[in-house]
Amino acid sequence: MDEDFNVCANCTNAFEARCKGYQRHPLGKKISGTEHTVFSALQSVVPTSTLTPAKARCGRYLCTDCFNLLCTIVRQRDAYAQFMQKGKMSSYVTRKRKLCSPMKTPRKVKSIRCFSPGKSMGSQKTLQHKPLNAVAKLFQNYDYRRGINLLYKKPSGKKAIHTLLSKVVHKEMSSLKKAQTVLRGKTSLEALETFSWDTVLEDISRDAPLFCTLLATAITNPKCQDAMLNGRKNIKPGLGLVIAVLLHLRFPCQYRLVQDIMSIELWRGGCRRSVMSALSKMGVCFGIGATLKLLDRVR
Ligand SMILES: [Zn+2]
Repeated sequence: MDEDFNVCANCTNAFEARCKGYQRHPLGKKISGTEHTVFSALQSVVPTSTLTPAKARCGRYLCTDCFNLLCTIVRQRDAYAQFMQKGKMSSYVTRKRKLCSPMKTPRKVKSIRCFSPGKSMGSQKTLQHKPLNAVAKLFQNYDYRRGINLLYKKPSGKKAIHTLLSKVVHKEMSSLKKAQTVLRGKTSLEALETFSWDTVLEDISRDAPLFCTLLATAITNPKCQDAMLNGRKNIKPGLGLVIAVLLHLRFPCQYRLVQDIMSIELWRGGCRRSVMSALSKMGVCFGIGATLKLLDRVR
């Protein structure tokens, strides 16, 4: 057994001798630039149930070649995650992205998935914990999409995810209160002339990506999301208006550019006082009194 520790835990090559000890890397070593140790990286790259934290401490090592290869795998995966995170909702690449995880499903995980409560295996008590084990395994393998999918099937998991999403949307909303966006700008002739829904959506999706994605998802067909956002059936003005109304209802003083524009356009078109008053209650525009004051300010 002892000689096991004198060779690489992966390729079993003997370690090169240095003036003091060997050229080798313990499993507890941190991989610089990542949050991984050699041990945790190994566990995620080679899913195995017998690799235990206790063994990481009792003297297994990797040779420099295997260590460097492992570092490359982990750094590339981190770079992949960062690249995906940087993708803007409206960008070309994100729009062209297929709605599925590009990560290959590890075979091990596939066999674990069949431990759904429907299939009877083992006692009732162990069954209740099986899905959670599977969720943990998926997370360990960085397969977050499938992990969350599985978690969402449990009532408590579903509740937790809903709470999390509401918290994220609340946070995004409070960041929009102070964000530099076109919608929050002062109404002026210049703002009216340069107004564009593209800029509005770009601004808001930068500071509130989840809020925007949820609204856009609600009004698009997954099969033709692209065509609807950019094609003949352009949904940007509608989506922009919904966002502008919601933001005006949340922060009436800060977000009023679209309402100002609507008020001016309705007034110019000779809209009746009663109609403007009714529309103002929906957050679409202002009443006639506020509109007249606005016109004095803008002209
Ligand atoms: Zn090796």
